[in-house]
Amino acid sequence: MRKAVPPQVREAARQRTCLDCRAAPGEKCAPGPGGRSNLHSSRIRSAEQGLAPLPPRQLLPLDGDRTYSELSIGNPDSLILSVHSEVQRTLALHLEELGALYVIVLGQADLLDLTELTNPLVLWMMSPVACLTVKEQVEFAERLVARGFADSPHPGAFRVAPLAARIVQRSELDPRFIAEWDAAKAAWPGGASKLFSDR
Ligand SMILES: [Zn+2]
Repeated sequence: MRKAVPPQVREAARQRTCLDCRAAPGEKCAPGPGGRSNLHSSRIRSAEQGLAPLPPRQLLPLDGDRTYSELSIGNPDSLILSVHSEVQRTLALHLEELGALYVIVLGQADLLDLTELTNPLVLWMMSPVACLTVKEQVEFAERLVARGFADSPHPGAFRVAPLAARIVQRSELDPRFIAEWDAAKAAWPGGASKLFSDR
């Protein structure tokens, strides 16, 4: 069970957007079962993070592994989002920051009108940011700056470090890697997995 939440965290949590029920800052969370009043865990986590010191700077190895996501599924010329695996690992427990990173990098490439973007996983990663206030978005972007994953050329404007994440063309990737990737996609068995037994 969760430890009791200190009153100052509880108060800060009420002033933040709730990612569970999308309550705006100052609004109450949606009531729980039986109409009991509630403060959702994402709000508490977000407040704890906001009150904590900025995260430390993290040096990314230049030759680190990267993960690649096509932005436009099924489009042979799709642009590709390339993210350093250490960034992905560090931000796995900081989904608002990961979402902010994706939003900033797509914004830098003018891709935020979403016409190109049909990869559901990428859209899902960005979704926590959509309901945050601008002040909260800036706060998460500033945490990316503290980590060294982004910089801020002027107040309120952010750029992701290319080593952390960038948009690339297929032609920029190793042709052998592309061939293996395409072959793996073609060989995907596509069978269904039975999650629910009917017996
Ligand atoms: Zn809530």
